[in-house]
Amino acid sequence: MAVQWLLVCHGLVTLLVVVSFLCGNWPIFQGTFVQRIHFFLAFGAYDYFRRVIDFVFGARGTGALASVEYFCCDRPNPILQILYLGIIGGTYYIIVKSSFSYIPGYYLSEIHRYTSLLAVAVGIILFLLTSFSDPGTVNIENVSQYLSAYPYDNIIFFEKDCSTCKIPRPARSKHCSVCKRCVARFDHHCGWMNNCIGEKNTRYFMAFLFWHFIICIYGVVAIVLLLAGRMKELQVIHILTVYYGIDNSFRGLAPHVAQWLLGSYNTQVLIMVFLAIVSLLLTGFFAYHAKLCITNTTTNETFKWQDYLSWQRKLKEAKASEEALKASLGELSLEKKVRESKCKAICRKSRLEEVEVIQNNIYDRGFVHNIYEIIYPLSSRRSFSHKKSKLR
Ligand SMILES: [Zn+2]
Ligand SMILES: [Zn+2]
Repeated sequence: MAVQWLLVCHGLVTLLVVVSFLCGNWPIFQGTFVQRIHFFLAFGAYDYFRRVIDFVFGARGTGALASVEYFCCDRPNPILQILYLGIIGGTYYIIVKSSFSYIPGYYLSEIHRYTSLLAVAVGIILFLLTSFSDPGTVNIENVSQYLSAYPYDNIIFFEKDCSTCKIPRPARSKHCSVCKRCVARFDHHCGWMNNCIGEKNTRYFMAFLFWHFIICIYGVVAIVLLLAGRMKELQVIHILTVYYGIDNSFRGLAPHVAQWLLGSYNTQVLIMVFLAIVSLLLTGFFAYHAKLCITNTTTNETFKWQDYLSWQRKLKEAKASEEALKASLGELSLEKKVRESKCKAICRKSRLEEVEVIQNNIYDRGFVHNIYEIIYPLSSRRSFSHKKSKLR
């Protein structure tokens, strides 16, 4: 039974590490040990590693490490693309090697040998489309059209030139420091795709996330059906109840069935757990980006709005404090009224604090229009090329 418990512990630790690393900075984990693990994995561990390199190899070692860091984080590179292909290819290879001999099975028909390959192939095609498609590069030829397509809201986007590309920077665009270009409706630079996610390829990125979620769920369901089929074919329940005298109830059979599965089909169980974890992560990631698409916002704009709203709140708080101070000072001579004025000031302040700063997103044109804009980007439409220059 020790091996089984080891496998369960391995699964739980893997889940904790993956969730902490990818989602540890989400608001729901604030102040928890998941957030602490995230900071250790994201920053602390690397900091310790750098110190060890410095201690062992001195300045030459840290210099070499800085070069590697620059190549991996600040320059376009295919490391994560190769890792993605390794993960999807490796997982499919393990599934073929460990499970295809049981297909067709009691609950799985032969068609799943081909549909699984098709599912993986579509996933890789979507990956290639997102990785190698133009995210919406802004250049001297199309900048005037982008300037007309996305007006400045003068809240988070103002008329400005890109100091690197030497062209006006359209609203919603951003200069990507990794790709060294301005990208329209910039969402983020995706290391896995080695490409920016922008106006033109958000649709492929969303399709990629959704399709990989479907593949993971398909994998989990197929493995469950495969294992259930093996149990049926080998008459496991019958043997346990008749030959071993195990009580024919869920409570009685579950530990023995689990032991049999972990002993005989541990590869399939591990793959199933892995796919379930990845599908959970993809659900969160897809839901976050779907919400952005529905409200016609980007990840980049989310950060800008956060900064703007917190600045507005601070401004309101400062004004409220100033008013409260003025009221207190003005009425200080009238001792009788002091308490009353303080109460009024406090009430006034709390009322001002309660006024919520509103996020006025002028690019949000309603659910249908927003989704249509993702599927059929503005720059792909005929009207885009007819837009006239508004260059300053
Ligand atoms: Zn630029
Ligand atoms: Zn980029």
